[in-house]
Amino acid sequence: MNNILQLGKSCCGCSGCEQICPKKCITIQPDSEGFLYPVVDESKCVDCGLCVKHCPIMTDAKRCDEPKVYAAKYKDRTSAFKSTSGGLFIPLAKEVLAKGGVVFGCAYDENLVARHIAVSNESELYKLQSSKYVQSDTRGIYKQVKTLLADDKYVLFSGTGCQVAGLKTFLNKDCEKLLTVDIVCHGVPSPALFKNYVDYMGRKLGGKLTSYNFRSKEKRGWDLYYKAENGKKSKSDYGFFDPYYSAFLYCKTYRESCYECKFANKNRVGDISLADFWGIQKFHPDFYDENGVSLVLVNTEKGKDYFDLIKDRLEIIESDYEKASAMNSNLVVASERPACRDTIYDGFDGLDFDSYVKTKLAFKVNPKTKIKKMIPLGVKRVLKKLH
Ligand SMILES: Cc1cc2nc3c(=O)[nH]c(=O)nc-3n(C[C@H](O)[C@H](O)[C@H](O)COP(=O)(O)OP(=O)(O)OC[C@H]3O[C@@H](n4cnc5c(N)ncnc54)[C@H](O)[C@@H]3O)c2cc1C
Repeated sequence: MNNILQLGKSCCGCSGCEQICPKKCITIQPDSEGFLYPVVDESKCVDCGLCVKHCPIMTDAKRCDEPKVYAAKYKDRTSAFKSTSGGLFIPLAKEVLAKGGVVFGCAYDENLVARHIAVSNESELYKLQSSKYVQSDTRGIYKQVKTLLADDKYVLFSGTGCQVAGLKTFLNKDCEKLLTVDIVCHGVPSPALFKNYVDYMGRKLGGKLTSYNFRSKEKRGWDLYYKAENGKKSKSDYGFFDPYYSAFLYCKTYRESCYECKFANKNRVGDISLADFWGIQKFHPDFYDENGVSLVLVNTEKGKDYFDLIKDRLEIIESDYEKASAMNSNLVVASERPACRDTIYDGFDGLDFDSYVKTKLAFKVNPKTKIKKMIPLGVKRVLKKLH
């Protein structure tokens, strides 16, 4: 067997194999946990090995050795407020759109399913803003990127390290007009688990959810704070106090491949990497901003060219990898697989999701964290001034 099935649970679910297969014998289907994996129709497979050759786990995409490290903030703070960290993704995206290009990234559809989409209009960029802490569906997307590049269009592709590597191994050549932005990633829960959780939250709020923001800055500024809405009611709180979110933060519900992620290190796969600059208060206290600071890794010459183009719209200071990764472990190593991962998905797709939440997603909050998190933003501002 010289096909993608050799990969087993090491598959990252990028769906590049489905898109490259000349015999169309690979389909991508959810497993019992709701993660997408390739399924091969062996009767049509001719063992050509293309799926293996273009797989980002079995074949290495080009990586960088020594990124330049910056802390940065987008000066348009209204836009940055809607983004996860310092809002750097938007000026990069605008730069590509200004060249008549197309931007690819993760958006929710009308049912809050996270999917990669193409955006060619500034007015739609908001759909890609803010992190969705669930695996995004990239089926069919690499082919769209290839077609646009063949038409001589500029393209920005953003996604997790494995998704960017998937695109690069799919294309298998340097493309001058392609800018890749990898998002530093802790790991991804399954789309089916998120769907069940969204339905559960909808029931709690008395109507189907219309939006779910994992990184709402409205009440607590730059933090791990969510807001769920259904048009009439909303609920917001710290991620640590929510069953789905805390399981995510404690690495309990990730795809198996996330625990052996080969992109969680300094050898970045994108031209630029974006993340939260956790620890900025400690290392660059004067640069802290309650609405978020981005960590930017400029990994290639092309990344540098784009960063130079948007510099006048940013506040920037130089930093180093040690400081950047001190409180951001996934810049150094993959997330650790906890023992509870063995059974965490048992019963998630049954009839009684409420019981599943109470048992499998039960969480304890450290009393110190609870007290710290109860302090309102206004009081924090005063305390900061007194320091
Ligand atoms: C699952 C996940 C885990 C993360 N883990 C960490 C972490 O451990 N440490 C850290 O510092 N940062 C992490 N991040 C990245 C961080 O949350 C921000 O996405 C990043 O700082 C960019 O923020 P921004 O303000 O520049 O842009 P934003 O406007 O917030 O841009 C969002 C960008 O993220 C992309 N995106 C959003 N959701 C997804 C998704 N599900 N899959 C792929 N791409 C997506 C969009 O396409 C867009 O490019 C994670 C992001 C995700 C999606």
